[in-house]
Order: sequence, then C-alpha cells, then structure tokens
Amino acid sequence: MLPLIHDLSRTDLTAACIAAGGPAWRADQIWRWLYTQHVDSWEAMRNVPSALRAALAERFDLASFSVADDQGDPAAARKLLLRLRDGECVEIVLLADRDRHTLCVSSQVGCRFACAFCASGQAGFRRNLAAGEIVGETLAAARSLGGRPDNIVFMGIGEPMDNYDAVLAAIRILNDPDGLNIGARHITISTNGIIPGIERLAGEGLQVELAVSLHAPNDAVRNRLMPVNRRYPMPELLTACARYTQRTKRIVTFEYTLVRGINDSAEQARELANRLKVFPSRVNLIPLSPVTGFDGQPSAPGVSERFLATLDQAGINATLRNSQGQRIQAACGQLRLRHLA
Ligand code: SAH
Repeated sequence: MLPLIHDLSRTDLTAACIAAGGPAWRADQIWRWLYTQHVDSWEAMRNVPSALRAALAERFDLASFSVADDQGDPAAARKLLLRLRDGECVEIVLLADRDRHTLCVSSQVGCRFACAFCASGQAGFRRNLAAGEIVGETLAAARSLGGRPDNIVFMGIGEPMDNYDAVLAAIRILNDPDGLNIGARHITISTNGIIPGIERLAGEGLQVELAVSLHAPNDAVRNRLMPVNRRYPMPELLTACARYTQRTKRIVTFEYTLVRGINDSAEQARELANRLKVFPSRVNLIPLSPVTGFDGQPSAPGVSERFLATLDQAGINATLRNSQGQRIQAACGQLRLRHLA
C-alpha cells in the first residue's frame, strides 16, 4: 500500500514535490487543493502539471477510505462509517448546533482499554490510524458538509494518547492556517487518563483543549469502570491535570458519564467536588448511552440534575450534556461494532 499524501506535513510535501521533479512552490498549490478545496482526485488539481500529478500519484494515495454507511439527521447528529484501505472501519460523528458543526473523529481502529460501558473496547484493538487517515476523516466530514467543520473532538473510537505521534501530526495539519485552518482551541483531545500523554501534551506549546474521562469520584469506582485506572490511579491523574493547567494555563474538562447506582449519588457528587475543588477545571456530565454487553443503566430521571446541582453548590463548574447521539448509536464504537457482528 502506498503512503497517504495526507500523512505529510507541509515541509514533507515540499520535499515530496521536489523529489517528484516539481519546484517547491507547487507544494503550496497542492496543499490548497487538498485542504481548502478538499479534492479527492489528482485530476482535480487543475493548475498542477500532469507530469507532476502522475509522479506524485505513483508515490502517494489520495483516498484513505470509502463511506460504508451514513445514518442520522444532517440537522442534528449524523454518523458515517468509513472503510479504510485495508478493509478496517472507523466512525465519525457530525453534530450540528445551529450553524456550527462539531466533528468527532476516531484515533484508532478499536481500543485497548476496555472501559466497561464503551462499545469501542468490546471488539478489542486492531491498529492505530495513520495521521493521514485522521486528516482523511476530517476531509470526509468537510466534503459531506460542504465546508470544514468548526470543531474537532477526538472522542470517536480509540485512545488518542495511545497513538500520540499520529494524533499530533494530524492536529498540526488540521491547524495549518493555509489549509483546513481549524484553530487549536477548536480541537479537543479526550483521554482516558494516560499520564505520560498528558505530560507530553503540556510541553507541545499547542492551545488544544484537553478532556479527561474521569467517570468516578474515587479509585474504587473508577477501577470498576475503567481498567486503565489501575495503571494510572486517580490521585496521580488529578495531580497531572493540575500540573497541566499550571503549565499551559488551559483548563481541563472532566467527562463524567452517569451510570445508575454506580457513580451518580449525591454523596459521590460531593466526593468528586472535594477532589476537584483544589484546582480550576470543569465537569461535563454525560448521560449513559445504553450499549449491549454492559448491563448498567442511565441515571433515573432527576438524578443527573441533582448530581449537577450538588457540584454546582460546591462551586464546581459543571454542565449536563444532552445526549443527541442516542438515536444513531453515537456512543463511540457502536456502529462499527454492529457492522462487525
Ligand atoms: N479514549 C478517549 C475517547 C473516548 S470516547 C477517552 O477515553 O476519553 C469519548 C467519551 O465518551 C469518553 O469520555 C467515554 O468514556 C465516553 N463514552 C464511551 N461510551 C459511552 C457510553 N456508552 N455512554 C456515554 N459515554 C460514553
């Protein structure tokens, strides 16, 4: 299989143009075709000489996937299943809020971490996505929307910190002002709490948003829901988040999926507040999307609101996310899992 043209940084693309016999400045034209016009064929690059196009086509692929399924409602939440060149599949979700579009991308095919309520881990881990494939997910969204998405969240299948280099390489391409131009503050990396990844990200000098999947007020509950907690327990994780905020001046968002009777009591909300109040952060409460293979239930009516109010009273900045995605099985990995079955 040829490498993808979308794996290349701008500097690498310049080198590739020179190696293919074109002058360096052709790379600027090609970059714009790729990332402002979102073209999916070499022929579409009309102002690039055909000899150079042919030389590049011998070295690089331009299409990383085909759309295998498309579900949902373009006005609210929509999900595309993308089939990659080796036959593996990943999902992207497009969420529309008035005229703003948020794209949820996958970072891996499958996931190693097996969080209890997550469909992605159930089928195990297959492989990392290449940077160009992650960029390709964004281009698929841009083509489908007729323009680039406004925000990108790494909340699809996989653990971005477990595929760190490709995720960061993709972000630098998405970020390029002469291309897709998605500002770092409009890109969110969501991690299950891999501390070395959080530490590395703090040193990148990028303004990306960091979200950490917490889902529990203490180690006992978190161990039950997230096996990764045995490796990176909560006290160390919270210390790493506090340090991240100190170093980057960026506030961490904690994601907390509410599961009935497991992590949603008022007492647990108070315990969570006590642990979080020592440094600035925000909490995003997420209703559980029911997933086959996990017998937990969403919180009973009113319980999420009580949890939110308890955090609020303790001075924690928290919001309760409504779950637009349930109808289209937007919880990460659900569509892929169904196709595997
Ligand atoms: N590996 C990354 C990205 C995962 S998906 C991470 O762990 O953060 C993004 C969020 O969706 C995570 O917080 C994840 O725990 C949550 N999630 C997964 N399955 C869910 C479900 N069935 N219902 C609600 N949230 C879910």
